[in-house]
Amino acid sequence: MSDVSDKCDGLLILVTNMRVISGLIIVSIALVLVLNACAPQRTVLQQVLAMGELKILTRNSGTTYYEGPQGSAGLEFELAQRFAKKLGVKLKIVVPDNLNGILEKISDGDAHIAAAGLTVTDERKKQVRFSPAYQTITQQVVYNVNSSKPKSIKQLDGAFEVLAKSAHVEQLKALKGKHTNLNWTENTDADSTELLSLVAEDLIDYTVADSNEVAYNRRYYPKLRVAFDITEPQELAWAFPITKDDSLYNEAKIFFEELKASGELERLLKNNYQHVQNYDYGGTHSYLAQIRRRLPTYLEMFKEAADKYDLDWRLLASVSYQESHWRPNAVSHTGVRGMMMLTMNTAAELGVSERTDPYESIMGGAKYLRKLIDKVPENIPEPDRMWVAVASYNVGYGHIEDARKLARKRGDDANKWVDIKATLPLLSKRKWYKQTRYGYARGWEPVRYVENIRSYYDILVWHLEKEQPHLRNLRPILAFSSNVL
Ligand code: GLU
Repeated sequence: MSDVSDKCDGLLILVTNMRVISGLIIVSIALVLVLNACAPQRTVLQQVLAMGELKILTRNSGTTYYEGPQGSAGLEFELAQRFAKKLGVKLKIVVPDNLNGILEKISDGDAHIAAAGLTVTDERKKQVRFSPAYQTITQQVVYNVNSSKPKSIKQLDGAFEVLAKSAHVEQLKALKGKHTNLNWTENTDADSTELLSLVAEDLIDYTVADSNEVAYNRRYYPKLRVAFDITEPQELAWAFPITKDDSLYNEAKIFFEELKASGELERLLKNNYQHVQNYDYGGTHSYLAQIRRRLPTYLEMFKEAADKYDLDWRLLASVSYQESHWRPNAVSHTGVRGMMMLTMNTAAELGVSERTDPYESIMGGAKYLRKLIDKVPENIPEPDRMWVAVASYNVGYGHIEDARKLARKRGDDANKWVDIKATLPLLSKRKWYKQTRYGYARGWEPVRYVENIRSYYDILVWHLEKEQPHLRNLRPILAFSSNVL
């Protein structure tokens, strides 16, 4: 019996049991049964609407659902949140222990939807019903840079662990037909992120993970490398229990169709992945080293400045790393200087007299960032607001306004960072910049700049939580919600 559907059968059992006890009880309970049996059965959709709640099963990972510094986040969360909002109900998130738990629970009808980065496979289609796909991935074999790169399946002869009940196992079983020497262990406890960390720490030799998970986690584990793909592109989709009742499923189908047609799905994917894909993995190693080596010297300064100007110190530190790699004497060919790379004029405006003084520079940079945030129109919601402000730290606010105007002209959404980011590079093209107030700008630079800072920020948060788990509940001073509803 599903715990998300109506419960008429339960009453029938109750009545049967009662009958043995006393004639009087039979009469009253049987009446309840008749009333219930007569009530028309509600569809799943009607039940969801009546309960005011959509129950989804998911898993905890950066690509699906996680509690980030700015609240709940992850693509699956954002999708489910939007769907619940469309239905006008609350979202209830349940995170079973492992993939097996998710698949079993959804095919038993223990929740309405499994939204867990699930790969659509033929085997699974026997068990669940998939929504239209929202993303495409490949399965990748991952190894540690300290070992030699396996060139083909034949060379996978070390400790090879994969996630039990995953689409990866299904694929390996298919490959085993041709590669009879292929062997692996199925891990029922770890999730895919943990398996990747085991490879990074040299505790196992190989694992398989979805390409989006690999890209996301490589930023944290610079020793991870992709050996090769073992599938053609595969689809990720939501899974529904197989029943005759199409009501909720059809609603989800329409939801995805609309999301695709409006370009919103593409925006969500870009928001979640573009900065990950463009990240220069080579930089993580030295970034992590500097988090240990240089950051401690300036940590208190970042915290003090962030406090004073109502910012998240980790964001401020990430901007500073992007600017100067936390070197107080940093200087660029354009003459900007110091930890926060201020120009002479900006420094003067901010009251910074010694740009190479780390304290002065950090305080000045924080003040400047606060000014920029306050300039961004209120109708740009967080976190986009933050990225727009950070982009203007790099390129100047005037160019950002130009890009927003161009975005509007092109029919894009001038209040969404993904659209502003798509427009910014046009500022380097005459056809476009001649239509603007501030003219030419190397518009691709702020795009790359923000992408780097987002990754530096993610890595810093991840690192702090790993090293100091008590910081896990630390709320940022500048609270912004990472879902873009
Ligand atoms: N998409 C894969 C699957 O559905 C991976 C899941 C995971 O990494 O947990 O099996």
